[in-house]
Amino acid sequence: MKFNTSLLHGGFSPEKGTGATLTPIYQVSAFAQDSAEQLEKVFNNKAPGFAYTRISNPTVAAFENRINALEKGVGAVACSSGMAAVTMSLLNILQQGDEVIAAAGLFGGTIDLFGDLMAFGIKTRFVEHVTAEEIEPLINDKTKAVFAELIGNPNLEVADLEEVSALAHSHGVPLIIDATTATPYLIHPFDFGADIVVHSSSKYINGGGNSISGIIIDSGSFKWNCERYAGLAEYKKFGKFAYIAKLRNGIWRNVGGCLAPMNAFMNSVGLETMGLRMERSCSNALALAKFFESCEGIEVNYPALESSPFYPLCKKQLKGMGGAIVTIRAGSKERAFKLINGLKLAVNATNIGDVRTLVIHPASTIYTHSSEKQQLSAGVYGDTIRISVGIEDAEDLIQDFKQSIENI
Ligand SMILES: *Cc1c(COP(=O)(O)O)cnc(C)c1O
Repeated sequence: MKFNTSLLHGGFSPEKGTGATLTPIYQVSAFAQDSAEQLEKVFNNKAPGFAYTRISNPTVAAFENRINALEKGVGAVACSSGMAAVTMSLLNILQQGDEVIAAAGLFGGTIDLFGDLMAFGIKTRFVEHVTAEEIEPLINDKTKAVFAELIGNPNLEVADLEEVSALAHSHGVPLIIDATTATPYLIHPFDFGADIVVHSSSKYINGGGNSISGIIIDSGSFKWNCERYAGLAEYKKFGKFAYIAKLRNGIWRNVGGCLAPMNAFMNSVGLETMGLRMERSCSNALALAKFFESCEGIEVNYPALESSPFYPLCKKQLKGMGGAIVTIRAGSKERAFKLINGLKLAVNATNIGDVRTLVIHPASTIYTHSSEKQQLSAGVYGDTIRISVGIEDAEDLIQDFKQSIENI
């Protein structure tokens, strides 16, 4: 199956029994079984079935299966938010005294999370750029994961997965990739060596900006050394399913960060049009970026522009496309605010991956709690505007920005 076909038919077929063309919303907490014996089997993973929605639910399972099929993983676990997915993907393999190596320019919430993990004896060492050269000197016996975003939000730096995964693997460490901004439309990170992928499915997978959720997918290909990853010893018997089995039976289930059936349904609906939406959003983003290049007093950052240092990586990994986020620098905070206030179509809101074009001034909002150093690593300057490009007609978007830029 090619991509758009697989969005509709991959890992999914109409519901048995009713023939429903989408898995309906099973809006219940618990599932009855015919006998105590049967419930015992379900509880002990000896029979398929459902017991309690925090542990599994048919609507949520349908969403997980579809994403797993799309990413070509061995299993996927849906979470209540992208942040829950990021957190659980790490806590599944970390313990007190461990270290993570991560990009300094990560999504603000993830940077804050690494700060929170300090209280549990987990230390994060940050690299300015996600390259083998910068990561290698920081790897030691305590390093348990390398964590990076495929296309940094909002610095828009593209990580070279083949290079970084080869380095991590040579030290027995997995590469966990937040692929939210790249989406499965642009890349299958497992094909380039990533071991675990997380998405904030609140964004492009949902697409309509109507549900918060996240998902973790395991490639099943990382060879866990149980001396280094003591917690996985108990799950070794599951072979390539060890990581996902531990997650499902451990920290994810017990923290209770499960996805609500309603939100899983909204995501499955959104997923089916992700290819069409991404195609349009990426071409709109490129058209807007090219337009900004011609604007005096505006500096543009978009990885798929030929002038970007990340253009070769877009060609190698992202089918030549650069995703649906563009950032611009307007010259000053005042000019940035004026530009935002003058827009008639683009909506001033803190989200990405909506069908509508959204703009935000990150320094005064998402990064307001970050230090100046953290802001600069994230590509957030006082005059930066982040644009999450939607699926409107490119001509209308360009016209909207043109009239506002002319005003300032
Ligand atoms: C939004 C986002 C998150 C967090 O996801 P939520 O669903 O808001 O919790 C994590 N990583 C990236 C790259 C994001 O854009």
